[in-house]
Amino acid sequence: MKLTIGYLYGDLMNIYGDTGNIIALKKRCQWRGIKAAIKMFTIRNSLKQGQADLFFFGGGQDQQQELVAKDLGKSAKGKVIKSEIERGVPLLSICGGYQLLGKYYKPHEGPELPGIELFNAYTVASDKRMIGNIVIESMFGKLVGFENHSGKTYLPGDATPLGMVVKGFGNNGEDKTEGCIYKNAIGCYMHGSLLPKNPILTDWLIKKALEVKYGKPIELKPLDNSLENQAHHMAISRFG
Ligand code: GLN
Repeated sequence: MKLTIGYLYGDLMNIYGDTGNIIALKKRCQWRGIKAAIKMFTIRNSLKQGQADLFFFGGGQDQQQELVAKDLGKSAKGKVIKSEIERGVPLLSICGGYQLLGKYYKPHEGPELPGIELFNAYTVASDKRMIGNIVIESMFGKLVGFENHSGKTYLPGDATPLGMVVKGFGNNGEDKTEGCIYKNAIGCYMHGSLLPKNPILTDWLIKKALEVKYGKPIELKPLDNSLENQAHHMAISRFG
């Protein structure tokens, strides 16, 4: 089997170790004999249906977010991403990427940056940075990461949070929600990199991608997760 991982704006949106998520996805495919290719989709690249089996969209500062928001809105990329998510293609977005998949992100300076409205969420920059280790309780059990954002994201109405904060700030440091999940698309504030310390989530993304691509249920070969679990439990014991 093979898998193409679509790295959205990877040249601009890749702060706080987020590229480590691409490495984790690729390695956990390779360790199972699944061929994993990485394809970057950035400004001026086109994106067509079926070109990626899974998307990753990392974090970035306001400046990069402005460039990316313009490109997402102007090009067909935003519409293609939304239609891919509707047919079940999985996506992981972190912080700055997550913010641009909602309705809008209002930075400290300048006008609102329009999002593609994949998530029923909006974000407003706040006057305090929310920085530190984060632990949440989710459908995957506990997830651990590191957050560094000033943006406060709110989920009005029917949006489903990825999980509830056990330790840390999460979406906004107010309502204990963290992230958002819609179909197989996830947004969250968990840098770190997130996936190396949360193998259950890495495997869920790979499994969903293969099931959509090959149109059948897929059971992944179990891997020895002792190192990953050690990092995961260490983070929980120290911060959770
Ligand atoms: N500029 C956004 C914020 O500070 C996103 C930063 C990030 O991706 N870590 O909230």
